[in-house]
Amino acid sequence: MRLFDAHNHLQDVQFNNNQHQIMSDCKDSGLIKMVTNGTSELDWEAVSTLAKRYPQIIPSFGLHPWFVHNRSSNWLKRLEEKIDNYGSAVGEVGLDRGKKNQKYNEQEEVFLSQLQLSTERNIPVSIHCIKAWEQIYNLLQDNPIPKRGFLLHGFSGPAEMIKPLNDLGAYFSFSGSFTHPKKARQRNNFCKIPANRLLIETDAPYQSMPDNFTTYHLDGKLNHPANINSLYKIAADSIGITYEKLTEIAEENFLRFFGN
Ligand SMILES: [Zn+2]
Repeated sequence: MRLFDAHNHLQDVQFNNNQHQIMSDCKDSGLIKMVTNGTSELDWEAVSTLAKRYPQIIPSFGLHPWFVHNRSSNWLKRLEEKIDNYGSAVGEVGLDRGKKNQKYNEQEEVFLSQLQLSTERNIPVSIHCIKAWEQIYNLLQDNPIPKRGFLLHGFSGPAEMIKPLNDLGAYFSFSGSFTHPKKARQRNNFCKIPANRLLIETDAPYQSMPDNFTTYHLDGKLNHPANINSLYKIAADSIGITYEKLTEIAEENFLRFFGN
């Protein structure tokens, strides 16, 4: 098996310094590469430390919309330094209008600065979008974007946005929580996504999967990235292709988008 996790947060403190065991489980499960996304200035260092230790990790650095209000005055310069030291990827970035008490103003400006970093370097950018599909579409259409395209991680947008976003260069990833019975709409969306734009992600430790689909368990119902094998199976069923075909497609897409 050759499996690829397009988006996770292995640095997350909820893993309680258990990353060594987790990486060993990932190896056993056939997980070849994973993209580990920082979310704020507070966790970028942990992402780079893990990436130095484990060659399976592609480090990605970004300011997540949830943490926009916590940024320091020189956050962008610090981010640029991280990206240039590791030269890999930008993320997790994006727009979120889904949370109460979450301020939206400043999110667009912060997103655009980070989009620009990825465009100038033509490196991958991983985008989070909740209840802001029109806004994200307009920003991506009206601003320079990386030639290689961009990833809409855990794509849960409306079906009618798939074509226009695909035309702009989007990749779409199927994430852990889509395995829940209530997420039929999100699963069905994936039948409409062109094969060359599909990716699979755990978003671990978030988006945990139902117990009957998981082999690896962590305290507190955290999602374990080594459960990605079941995720591939469920995604393949939802899309209507074989598991083998999906592993082929996901590898090609992952290497094209996240490769050099
Ligand atoms: Zn994430």
